[in-house]
Amino acid sequence: LTYCKKLPKVELHAHLNGSLSDGTVLQLLEAKEKELGSTDSLSSFKMTISKGPERCLRECFRVFEALHSLTDSQEAIRKITKNVIQEFAEDGVRYLELRTTPKNIPGKITKKEYVDAVLETMINEMKTCRIMVRLLVSVDRGRGVGDAWSTLSLAKQYLDHDVFKGLLVGIDVSGNPNKGNLIDYIPILKEAKKCGFKLAVHLAEVKSCVEETDAVLENGLVDRIGHGTYLLKNNGYGIKYQKKILKNFIPIEICMSSNLKTQSVRSFEKHHFGVWSGLKHPLAICTDDKGVYCTTLTNEYYICAKNFNLSEQDLHELCLYAVEAAFLPSSEKDILRQMVKEELSKLM
Ligand code: 5GP
Repeated sequence: LTYCKKLPKVELHAHLNGSLSDGTVLQLLEAKEKELGSTDSLSSFKMTISKGPERCLRECFRVFEALHSLTDSQEAIRKITKNVIQEFAEDGVRYLELRTTPKNIPGKITKKEYVDAVLETMINEMKTCRIMVRLLVSVDRGRGVGDAWSTLSLAKQYLDHDVFKGLLVGIDVSGNPNKGNLIDYIPILKEAKKCGFKLAVHLAEVKSCVEETDAVLENGLVDRIGHGTYLLKNNGYGIKYQKKILKNFIPIEICMSSNLKTQSVRSFEKHHFGVWSGLKHPLAICTDDKGVYCTTLTNEYYICAKNFNLSEQDLHELCLYAVEAAFLPSSEKDILRQMVKEELSKLM
């Protein structure tokens, strides 16, 4: 664990609201109690968000909804962004791609105010913490295609922004995989790519996803795959997907604790990490929702090392794979690679 803590790590799959530590949630609850007084619903809320336990993916989405009710102002968004960045920096993360769904809450916050608050905080934290941070805006498939188009048109405004240019590097597609169909989102993904955004898509997260997985891969729309839990299942498609992903070197974001706690894999040893790493395929070890699943990136590296007998050299390779999978322009990636390599060489 100590060695994993020292690794100069790159986190590519971290949902902002899912990454809140207990301390942050407590601060937000106190602020809510000041605003509303202590109510029964706040007490039952505390039960809903209790961290750590295993629960299915559907139940986790109830936790996210509850957390969202606390992060409904620019002040709250600034606070959570600041705390999450500082926590990743303390864990030895040198480069962080945060992702979040911009929310429009009438009378409280607009999507633009939401994204501005995240980006402003990122800039401030990069001045004081030893970490580089970039943003992906998330399209939540549960919110419908109209909402996704509005998120994309907002994201475009940041491409040539005088203050925030270069900070919003991609689009993530996430949200409850049992809601909506990714096929309906393909025109949006095509448009996003045309604008120059990189795409990270949660793919094959549940069993009933063959058609949409096929469509996304066939259209060559994905730059990184989130989870990919059911990609290799013996359903007649596994081999086809595997060949396509291997041929195109599409990196896969691996979130061990998340997959185990949502019961989408049976054990760490049976996790698909084993198959892909055996094939030397590019992988990025990630936390997904470090708050909800009670983990850290250090811990995720440790879980992989322990369950798959990884050597120090293997761990170094994983850090470097993650650098290559980052959505940075090549000049910035060169700087990051150099920095990570230098730190790794000091660990030898
Ligand atoms: P937010 O976008 O509000 O900052 O972060 C929480 C959101 O991320 C959730 O509401 C959900 O849309 C998305 N999310 C977090 N974890 C997962 C996951 O494991 N799978 C999927 N598909 N979406 C997730």
